[in-house]
Amino acid sequence: MNRSVTAEPDPDTTALAAQVRAGERRALAQAITLVESTRPDHRARTAQLLDELLPSTGNAARIGVSGAPGVGKSLFIESLGLHLTSLGHRVAVLAVDPSSIRSGGSILGDKTRMESLARDPNAYIRPSPSGGTLGGVARRTREAMLVAEAAGFDVVIVETVGVGQSETDVDQMVDVFVLLVSPGGGDELQGIKRGVMELVDVLVVTKADGELRNAAHQAAGDYRHALHMIRPKHKGIEPDVVVTSALQGDGIDQVWTLITAHAKTLRDSGALTSLRAEQAKAWLWNEIREGLLDRLKANERVQELLPTVEPAVAEGRLSPTSAAQRLLNESDV
Ligand code: GDP
Repeated sequence: MNRSVTAEPDPDTTALAAQVRAGERRALAQAITLVESTRPDHRARTAQLLDELLPSTGNAARIGVSGAPGVGKSLFIESLGLHLTSLGHRVAVLAVDPSSIRSGGSILGDKTRMESLARDPNAYIRPSPSGGTLGGVARRTREAMLVAEAAGFDVVIVETVGVGQSETDVDQMVDVFVLLVSPGGGDELQGIKRGVMELVDVLVVTKADGELRNAAHQAAGDYRHALHMIRPKHKGIEPDVVVTSALQGDGIDQVWTLITAHAKTLRDSGALTSLRAEQAKAWLWNEIREGLLDRLKANERVQELLPTVEPAVAEGRLSPTSAAQRLLNESDV
């Protein structure tokens, strides 16, 4: 078994870690490909890589950006990203795309998105890893975030399509969660789950230009009111609402000002330290859960039993409860 905690360090991985820390772009891409791999020997190398990179991580502003398809995420992130690189920041954009899990169609994976930002030498864009489970995709994105931080990116943006669980997963890896909404206001507001509203640190109403300008300002008022009714995510820190037009570049600098102010408040109050500590602990348990599941599925006895046990459950001859107990008892994971 590969157990990186006890095994001899692999010299190639140590070399890769050094290249990542030196900011070599090819090494960064290679390291992220490594963390995205599910092969057991690659998982062991990933664990070593992350251990070696860990002292160089944690210094970036970690920002989650979420919103429904078509709300304007790519244009917004591109505009924000270019604004940030013009200020001298180095920006990594990573994606958690639930639609990439079934591999076929990926909403965020489209290569033509954010073309100008992709060409910027101070930006790095990585589409969502595909396949596996949402938990698996989130786990690989978290790891990619550490790699990007070690490579010297001081702003990491994690993008996700707003379709439920993925917002919570992204919220668990960032400092500040930004929700993008269209100028629709009222009706759309009803469509946003309360659970998602509870995650919001900064709410951005997009497309505030042309005919939609007034509607956007109206919607901002509605959202301000709605957020006011919700228990604040961090005690004593109110979420912010801002209108933007990525098309015209309006409000983008204001979003960044609000994000940094938010992050500063969190840092100064000590909330950021405890937030990241909680996130790291939650990540540990996620790793344990995913790791146990991987081992269980790879277990010989489980593989022997599954072809009879699974159909028995499907056909109602065996309860899922006793089937699960049997599989767990007979495996040695
Ligand atoms: P995503 O699916 O959330 O990534 O959304 P996109 O960024 O691809 O934008 C969806 C559509 O909205 C595209 O046709 C964009 O041109 C348009 N759009 C995005 N931002 C703005 C904006 O600030 N103003 C206007 N008028 N249209 C925008």
